[in-house]
Amino acid sequence: MTSISQRLLVFNNFLPQGVQLIAVSKTKSESEILQAYEAGHRAFGENKAQEMTEKWEHLPKDIEWHMIGHLQRNKVKSIAPYVHFVHAVDSERLLQELNKQAEANHRKINCLLQVHIAEEETKFGFDEKELAVILNSEFRHEYSHLKFRGLMGMATYTDNSTQVRKEFKSLKNLFDRCKIHFTESGDHWDTLSMGMSGDFAIAVEEGSTMIRVGSAIFGERN
Ligand SMILES: *Cc1c(COP(=O)(O)O)cnc(C)c1O
Repeated sequence: MTSISQRLLVFNNFLPQGVQLIAVSKTKSESEILQAYEAGHRAFGENKAQEMTEKWEHLPKDIEWHMIGHLQRNKVKSIAPYVHFVHAVDSERLLQELNKQAEANHRKINCLLQVHIAEEETKFGFDEKELAVILNSEFRHEYSHLKFRGLMGMATYTDNSTQVRKEFKSLKNLFDRCKIHFTESGDHWDTLSMGMSGDFAIAVEEGSTMIRVGSAIFGERN
């Protein structure tokens, strides 16, 4: 057994049912991804469109690719034929482009709206008011090639677990309140993407359904 497969095993034993692990493979080699694949893992996360597309081209086609990073509109076209989930949707213009490219590829793309929950100014995402505008908009129903699956957020990068827990709690609360917009449509509002190597345990306690873990599986990045 490789250390990558051993760490995956530890995660799979730890995670409760209903919480999916996205193995964040950004900067990691195809052979490292294959070690995880051979251990049975299929869901991988990348934050750069070009790197993800190259890996998609070379690696087995039953891998589900998650775009977890900030996505520029001019990169959507390259990933639209295959991307499984886009985690960091943070503007209406990006939604429009995703819908257009999904339609061109005759498929639907799963989207998560990114919410700004951290103290840092630098992180992308909607605030609660902007999110309400999108969810209330008539427009949303025009995005017939997108599936609005839920929310994604990143907590403040800090050792202060009280702070991190508070931020995850508020995201879970917002996720629950948004559900009301989806009860009548065919959409499935079922995914809350929160938690990384440093804070996944807290995220899972606070209701995460999808954690994005890189270094705790593949080792530190350079
Ligand atoms: C890199 C990254 C992760 C994984 O980070 P680790 O700390 O290595 O687990 C998760 N989410 C996003 C958005 C990332 O960019």
